[in-house]
Amino acid sequence: MKKKILINDKVTVLAGKDRGKIGTVKKVDAKKGNLVVENVNKVKRHTRGNPQAGQQGGIQDQDAPVNISNVAIMCTSCTKPTRIGYHITGDGKKLRFCKKCQEYID
Ligand SMILES: [Zn+2]
Repeated sequence: MKKKILINDKVTVLAGKDRGKIGTVKKVDAKKGNLVVENVNKVKRHTRGNPQAGQQGGIQDQDAPVNISNVAIMCTSCTKPTRIGYHITGDGKKLRFCKKCQEYID
């Protein structure tokens, strides 16, 4: 089953060094199956400064992508990692809901 995770969804990390962390999805790469989650999988990146643009060189923290299979979507109502179900409304819209508490997530 494919997981549907969208930008601004809250997810919790299931594996790796950031296991248990909760963050907001900032970027989704559906082709690669990767997500960038705020404050998760931080890596240090060396950057070269550009004095003309007022940028300082040095080491910057950056959020690296995590695999979609390593995260679970968080329900904002029951605040637990959950599975998502879909309701199709009368006008054909798909609404996502939490299978635990039945609350809509969108
Ligand atoms: Zn819920």
